[in-house]
Amino acid sequence: MKWEENVRKVVPYVAGEQPGKADVIKLNTNECPYPPAPGVERLAARMAYGNLRLYPNSQASMLVEALAGYYHVKPEQVFVGVGSDDVLAMAFMTFFNSGNPILFPDVTYSFYDVWADLYRIPYKTCPLDEKWHIRAEDYQQPNGGVIFPNPNAPTGLLESMETVEEIIRTNQDVVVIVDEAYVDFGGTSALPLLEKYDNLLVVQTFSKSRAMAGLRIGFCIGSEKLIGYLNDVKFSFNSYTMNLPAQVLGVEAVRDEVYFKEITGKIIKTRERVKKELKRLGFSFPDSRANFIFATHETIPAKELFQALRAADIYVRYWEKPRISNSLRITIGTDEQMDRLLVFLEKYLKMSKNGEM
Ligand SMILES: *Cc1c(COP(=O)(O)O)cnc(C)c1O
Repeated sequence: MKWEENVRKVVPYVAGEQPGKADVIKLNTNECPYPPAPGVERLAARMAYGNLRLYPNSQASMLVEALAGYYHVKPEQVFVGVGSDDVLAMAFMTFFNSGNPILFPDVTYSFYDVWADLYRIPYKTCPLDEKWHIRAEDYQQPNGGVIFPNPNAPTGLLESMETVEEIIRTNQDVVVIVDEAYVDFGGTSALPLLEKYDNLLVVQTFSKSRAMAGLRIGFCIGSEKLIGYLNDVKFSFNSYTMNLPAQVLGVEAVRDEVYFKEITGKIIKTRERVKKELKRLGFSFPDSRANFIFATHETIPAKELFQALRAADIYVRYWEKPRISNSLRITIGTDEQMDRLLVFLEKYLKMSKNGEM
C-alpha cells in the first residue's frame, strides 16, 4: 500500500502484564500494594461529577501549586502530565532536538529508546559497570542530552549525589533529565541541585510511592525557563491533558504527608526483610533503594522461575534482553504477599534440588 510508506513506524514499549483475574499476587509493575491516602477515597466518593461537563483547568493550577508548596519551589517551576510517561515524552520532544545522540544507560527504563525512536532522536547507550553502577565519565562525550533514572530501573541502585552532580556539571550545554520515579523509597533527590543548574529537569510520579497509578499523574520540576518551554510545547499539542478527577484527587494526596511517609516506610521495611530472605534462598541482587528487587538465583535460571511463579499466579517481571535475562524484577508488595512468594520459592528450590521437577 502506497500510503504505508509515509506512516511513522515505531516499535512500541511493552508494559508489564495486567492479568485480568482477581486473586493473583501482582509484583510485576511496581505498583503500591496499599490504597491511596484515605482522603483521596473520601473525596472521590463526594466528588461533584456535574463538573465533568466542563473542561478541566488546563494548567492544573491547584495541583501545580500543591506540588510547588510541598517541594518548596515556585509554581512556575512545576509541570504536570498524564503520568510521568507523558511528562517524559513531552520533555524528549521539547529538549532533545540538536541532532546529536542523547545518552542513557544500557540497562535502564525501556521506554527511553522507544521515545527516541518515535521522535527520531539519535541515541547512544552507556554500559553500567559490572556492579550495575552508572559511570559519570561515560557522560563526558559530545551529546544532545542526558537521561537516567535515580534509583535506576530495573536494578534499583541509587547513585550518589556526587555522581549525579558530576553528570549535570559536565553537561551544562544540554538538558539533563533525572527520572526519580522511585526516589521516595529511600533515595536522595536531585531537587536541591536546581539552585545551581538551570538545565536540570527532575521527573517524579504518583504511580509508585503515592499509590495512584490508575489516575495517571506525573510531574517535573526545573528552572522557570525549562518549564516555560515545556508548557509551550504541551499547549501546542493538547491543552487539556489532565482530567479533573486526577487534578482534584492529586491535590488531596499531596496534602497527606503522614500517610505518604507511612506507606513508603512500610514498603522500605518489607523490602529490607525480603532482601535477607532472598539471600538465604540463594539469590543475589544489587542493593535496591526502590520498591522492587532485581534478583538472580545462584542455580535456577530466571526464565524458569518466572514461568513457575506465573503458573502459581505470582506475577513478576522478566526481560529476555542482553545482560538482564537471568534476573527477575520483583515488586515489593505487602508482607503477606511477599511471604507467599517466599514460601513458593523455598518449596520450588527444595524440589528442584531433590530432582523432583
Ligand atoms: C514507572 C516508571 C515511569 C512512569 O510511570 P508513570 O506511571 O507514567 O508515572 C517512569 N520512569 C520510570 C523509571 C518508571 O519506572
